[in-house]
Amino acid sequence: MLDYKKLEEMGKEAGFTAVVPLDVNTIECKEKVREMCAADKCHRYGHTWTCPPACGTLEEMRQRLTPYSEGILVQTVGEVEDSMDFEAIAEISKAHNESFFALQQQLKAAYGSVLPLPQNGCARCKECTYPDAPCRFPEDAGYSMSAYGMLVLEVCKLNSLQYYYGSDHMAFTSCFLLKE
Ligand code: SF4
Repeated sequence: MLDYKKLEEMGKEAGFTAVVPLDVNTIECKEKVREMCAADKCHRYGHTWTCPPACGTLEEMRQRLTPYSEGILVQTVGEVEDSMDFEAIAEISKAHNESFFALQQQLKAAYGSVLPLPQNGCARCKECTYPDAPCRFPEDAGYSMSAYGMLVLEVCKLNSLQYYYGSDHMAFTSCFLLKE
């Protein structure tokens, strides 16, 4: 089993508010999440290599998960005035993405193999090359949790991580999968 205390320390140092173990047995790849993606409320559907439909079928995504037996959920929580405080929300999202990429590099160096699953899809480049040119960094590109059919709220609940902190806070949640 991985040293989750050490992983928590690494995650906190990278800037996350919370880092908890993720039991991979709680991950379910659900078709209904793909249907939610297609509604494109997050404006990522059809805009990046790492979200549907370009990411591949749900079965292909399920196969990507199989080599990984351990994981962590990472979360950034920040204050907002309300759900329309887009400036604050963008700041929290930016901080989350920066922490995510920093920790991804550290985990890669420490564990060799890591599968990054950012909540809102890959944010490696300012603008994704999709669909005009191949992905610039295929080894670093993170496929979104939703692309795997994961319901973030449910995954948090099943792993004892709070998801909603009230109307005056915003939380971004992602995860990493690792091999023992
Ligand atoms: S690494 Fe860059 S080009 Fe590749 S999916 Fe991510 S944003 Fe797009």
